[in-house]
Amino acid sequence: MSVIPQRLLPDTASVASNGMLSIGGCTIEGLAAEHGTPLFVYDEVHLRHRAREAVEAFGADRVIYATKAFLCGAMARLAHEEGLMLDVATGGELFAVRHAGVPGDRCVLHGNNKSLEELRFAIEEGVRHIVVDSFDEIDKLEQLHREGQPAPRVQVRITPGVHVHTHEFVQTGQDDSKFGFNLRNGDAMRAIERLSRSSAVDLAGVHCHIGSNVFAAENFAKASEVMVDLFNSLDIPELTLGGGLGVAYTSSETAPTITQWANVLKSATSTLRAASLVFVEPGRSIVASAAVTVYRVGTVKHIEGIRTYIAVDGGMSDNPRPVLYGSGYEIFDPLRTHADRTEVARVVGKHCESGDILINDAEVPPHVAVGDLLATPVTGAYGYSMGTNYNKVPRPAIVFVRDGTSRVVVRRETYADLVRLDV
Ligand SMILES: *Cc1c(COP(=O)(O)O)cnc(C)c1O
Repeated sequence: MSVIPQRLLPDTASVASNGMLSIGGCTIEGLAAEHGTPLFVYDEVHLRHRAREAVEAFGADRVIYATKAFLCGAMARLAHEEGLMLDVATGGELFAVRHAGVPGDRCVLHGNNKSLEELRFAIEEGVRHIVVDSFDEIDKLEQLHREGQPAPRVQVRITPGVHVHTHEFVQTGQDDSKFGFNLRNGDAMRAIERLSRSSAVDLAGVHCHIGSNVFAAENFAKASEVMVDLFNSLDIPELTLGGGLGVAYTSSETAPTITQWANVLKSATSTLRAASLVFVEPGRSIVASAAVTVYRVGTVKHIEGIRTYIAVDGGMSDNPRPVLYGSGYEIFDPLRTHADRTEVARVVGKHCESGDILINDAEVPPHVAVGDLLATPVTGAYGYSMGTNYNKVPRPAIVFVRDGTSRVVVRRETYADLVRLDV
């Protein structure tokens, strides 16, 4: 039984005395009426605040936004305008970012299985650097060089052997990982030696990424110390200390701010030799709490003695994280934002899966009825980007709100879009 806490809402969220929620000066009721539901509402000021906080904390040209958290043309341009570089993990992400007008030299290419075509594309686009992930990738880079491609600047991805407390699927820094070169078994040094001898690349740095949605700052400190030791023993200028800062999704969670994270990294890297360049790659912590998803209730089913099901007009297609990771979310009525959520219900989507659950035991205000709006906060990361067309449900629209106006940055999918690939 609680009211949705303000700290889970975007920076410009405000609640009128009648309980009506506005973000960026736009009421959620008005946005739903104008743009339909489900709807992703992003607070543009919040996005810019987080980007600026990161640039201020880490320095200009040191922050690389991980686009996989949320990518569309407007987001790529916003990140670029705010001085972030953009991390892409596939040719598709690189294409989308270049299509948005971001210069190639503001992009960084990642990925554990980059194809020859993706590597060629990245070199042709002049990406700032490529993060090399495997011996097979080095073979491919050498092949491209033999074909006449210039030698790209590269960093080498290391798994420092640090276990972090997060969901198994998003741990990436441990020894048993599909990513990067293992430090403990000598692969990392073998890769560094080979890359520094090779004329096919310009080895500039080492990289690590220990996992996503990490809450305990000490985890970053541990991995950073291992990386600093390695870095100090090498004669290369650049070090990247991944992303992965967690965010609070529910009332019971708290997470460090970007500035606090920066302070942990600064003290953990205080022994770094002079004239080194330290990069970070935040994704989630820039975008997650900038957005809410607005749904409309379609059915309410009470099963006496068992539970109440509230079905909304989206589900696992716009937010797969509960199904994929068992992630928790909260939900509230944006027309009575300060209502005590005194009832418990299971909030489900409209897909043909019993597992299509958004929130298992959601606290909801009393008397949620068909036609009501409900909103889930902190859906700005890995929601739209991981979404699908399952059940041929059209993808929602995305609006950016600011100063009382909303602009559609990704239009709602139509039924015609759903068959455009049929031949
Ligand atoms: C996903 C990813 C990030 C961003 O992670 P977040 O948890 O969203 O901050 C950064 N670097 C790499 C290499 C990644 O794969």
